[in-house]
Amino acid sequence: MSEEIVVIEGDGIGKEVVPAAVSVLEAVGDFRFVGAEAGDAVKDETGEALPQETYDTVAEADATLFGAAGETAADVILPLREAVGSFVNVRPARAYPGVDAVRPETDLVFLRENTEGVYSGHEDRLSDDLSTLTRVVTTSASERLAEFACEYVDERGADGFHVAHKANVMRETDGRFRDAVVDVAEREGVETEEVLMDAFATRVCLDPTQFDVVVCPNLAGDVLSDLAAGLVGGLGLLPSANVGPDNALFEPVHGTAPDIAGEGVANPSAAILSAAMLLDHLGYGDAADDVRAAVESVLADGPRTPDLGGDAGTEDVTTAVLKRLD
Ligand code: ATP
Ligand code: MG
Repeated sequence: MSEEIVVIEGDGIGKEVVPAAVSVLEAVGDFRFVGAEAGDAVKDETGEALPQETYDTVAEADATLFGAAGETAADVILPLREAVGSFVNVRPARAYPGVDAVRPETDLVFLRENTEGVYSGHEDRLSDDLSTLTRVVTTSASERLAEFACEYVDERGADGFHVAHKANVMRETDGRFRDAVVDVAEREGVETEEVLMDAFATRVCLDPTQFDVVVCPNLAGDVLSDLAAGLVGGLGLLPSANVGPDNALFEPVHGTAPDIAGEGVANPSAAILSAAMLLDHLGYGDAADDVRAAVESVLADGPRTPDLGGDAGTEDVTTAVLKRLD
């Protein structure tokens, strides 16, 4: 193992949880870490939230571990997703024993389309009274997502996947998305079930065990995966991956958490679990499983950070994870 991993701490608790995740990667592998800068602090210094040098380093690396950016989040993360050619945002949401959760039986993965939909940026102000948004959906991006979903289902050992959409109303755009995804799955012999995204929101709250892998358009995936985060006990636990054809960027779902930044009490679990996804991506599945097992065991037995009702700091939790990896 000597892949190059770019490390961007960013702002706020990114500066606390990313070093924790790096120490875990150091414990299980032999990687070359390259530090890079992005976010509010760099913007204050240089006028640019995302220096070209950072963009290029990320584009050329094997993988990137990113923390969080504050005010400049959109200026940083959207171009970085593009730098790795990311077409899917993978967001697992699972509850852990020992952590208070609204639905402790939750174990889901959202595969969110990451390039188009209503986040493709075509907004216009046509008059003082009227603004519009153009929603972009292509068959090619939908098919690429579906191909990824079919492989993912196979690796996870899932029975198939759900496609969340609203094609009964947005017949053209979500209709195209749904048709493309279902066609690919049929061709690959993967079972799919359609679910209207509003109905999904209710059903997942009542009984998350009805779902396993859920494929969504961009905005729906963003909202529904945050909803699932609420079911499993909060932001400090949720990792994510922005995956491209041969590069990927991993980040906790949470932001900079300005209310606790600098206090040394941020929960490093989401960042460490993002590092586990990074290990999977680089082909070190066993190391990834070891890291997940170590985090799970610490979540069950403590120490715990204040967001989970404990009084331990980021370093205490990280040290406990490292000890279990020994
Ligand atoms: P941003 O604008 O950067 O997203 P935010 O104010 O939305 O900042 P988040 O980081 O999204 O803050 O966090 C929302 C809430 O969840 C905050 O109260 C924060 O303290 C808490 N939180 C988020 N991540 C963690 C973590 N890793 N450990 C503990 N608490 C966290
Ligand atoms: Mg936030």
